[in-house]
Amino acid sequence: MRLSVIREVLRNLARRPSTLAYPVRREVTVAPGHRGRHYADLMKCIGCSLCAVDCPANAIVMEKLPQQLKHNPRGIYPVVDYGKCVFCYQCVFVCPVKAYVTSEHFEMADYAISTSRELSLSSIRVGGQA
Ligand code: SF4
Ligand code: SF4
Repeated sequence: MRLSVIREVLRNLARRPSTLAYPVRREVTVAPGHRGRHYADLMKCIGCSLCAVDCPANAIVMEKLPQQLKHNPRGIYPVVDYGKCVFCYQCVFVCPVKAYVTSEHFEMADYAISTSRELSLSSIRVGGQA
C-alpha cells in the first residue's frame, strides 16, 4: 500500500503540471461558440431598448448617442456592463436587427468598470448613416 503511494507521488513529481500559469502564459483556448465580449454595432442599432428590457442581469443601460443617426430616431444605444453580464446572449438573440457583434474574447478583468461603450461608439462610421 505504502509503496504504491510512493510510486504515485514520484510519478506525479515527474509529470508536467496540468494547469497553466495564467496570465503569465496566455495560450488559452476556448470552446468554439464560447460567449464572450459583445457590443452593439451602432450602424445597425435602432435604439429600440429590447435588449435592455430583456436582460436578466440588468446589465444594459440605454445611453444617449453623441450624434444623430438617421436609422435611430430615439437617439439612444445600449451599453453593457461586463461586470454584471452573465453572458447568456439573450440580448443578441432578441435584437430585431442583429446589431450585436459577438466574440470569444473573455479577458475583461479590470480595476475600472468595464463596459461596451467605447466599442459601440467606435462602430459609428464616417458620415454616421447606415
Ligand atoms: S449577455 Fe445576457 S446578461 Fe449579458 S448583457 Fe446580454 S442579456 Fe444581459
Ligand atoms: S435590441 Fe438591438 S436595436 Fe434594440 S437597442 Fe438593443 S442593440 Fe439596439
